[in-house]
Amino acid sequence: MRSAPVYLPDFSHIYIEEGAEKYPLTQDILQRFPDAVHVSIPDYKTAFNRSGQDFIQQKKSMKLILAVKKPPFIYESTDILQDAGFENFVYATPLLNCLYNCQYCFLQGMYPSANLVAFVNEDNFFNEVRNAISHRENRDQPLVLSISYNTDLLAFENIIPFCKHWIEFAANQPDVLIEIRTKSALFNALKNIDPNRNVLLSWTLSPKVVVDKYEWDTPPLAKRLKAVRQALAKGWNVRLCFDPIMIVPEWQKVYSHFLDDVFSALPADQIYDTVVGVFRMNKDFFQRARKREPRVDIYYKDYELKDGVLSIAKDKRAEVKTVISDKLGQYLEKKKVNIWNS
Ligand code: SF4
Repeated sequence: MRSAPVYLPDFSHIYIEEGAEKYPLTQDILQRFPDAVHVSIPDYKTAFNRSGQDFIQQKKSMKLILAVKKPPFIYESTDILQDAGFENFVYATPLLNCLYNCQYCFLQGMYPSANLVAFVNEDNFFNEVRNAISHRENRDQPLVLSISYNTDLLAFENIIPFCKHWIEFAANQPDVLIEIRTKSALFNALKNIDPNRNVLLSWTLSPKVVVDKYEWDTPPLAKRLKAVRQALAKGWNVRLCFDPIMIVPEWQKVYSHFLDDVFSALPADQIYDTVVGVFRMNKDFFQRARKREPRVDIYYKDYELKDGVLSIAKDKRAEVKTVISDKLGQYLEKKKVNIWNS
């Protein structure tokens, strides 16, 4: 069990891919960490994809790698991501890996390294998004872009202001909706930015027992709720994510009380919408994550395998769906509750 506000890493070493040094973002970052040793590398993958890395040890002292992203800059949505009913759904990865350490997170099994890779060529991302907006299939809907899929981007905002840059970009695009999903309490990092209807700030909220047991290094629920209140007060569109709903002992009671607490702390009528999901993970990532962190009980439960993805059993999924949507229905209109497709 380990739930505490994450420290900001001091980055004893910063690895710089050849070609990345010329970008202004690289120079900004290097100035922020004047004591870090700079290590030049030919390609970020030589450091990041090395075999035999100890993910758990690296997580305790993450290093930063600055790199230049090569195409593709955006990816089609996967079944694991929730599109909340939007059709033109894509994601981008300005940062790989996360300061937090949720034990149900697929990143533990996805990457060979726990180090962080920040891509400094933001303009290439922006150009590609402009292109995708013009070519989106459903012209009646915006391009919906998740930029915090392989990371928690807002948690990183005091190190690299990626969210600020993306929000400024979105402000000038007519047909985009950027989702920034987070567990961070760092709303202050955005407090001087005008709210923007093309951006959805999405907070993942979980009951205390789930935060304590599985969401290691993340801010406690009370701090996340405070950040949500600040965002709403400033006029941002805010989504609440109850994802994953974890099947802890007496989960029905736990989540019922938790949702009552959430909506006594937040004005339900100001919430843009909610998304609900259950634990799910690509089978290969699951097996790798279990090897890396064999003490976590998540990796010893029974799951069903469908299309390469492991998730809780069908009857349990149905029960979660009923219990959580009934409860959310006490506070929100039906159209504001997006339950995962299963
Ligand atoms: S905050 Fe999100 S990306 Fe980060 S470890 Fe937790 S689940 Fe993974």
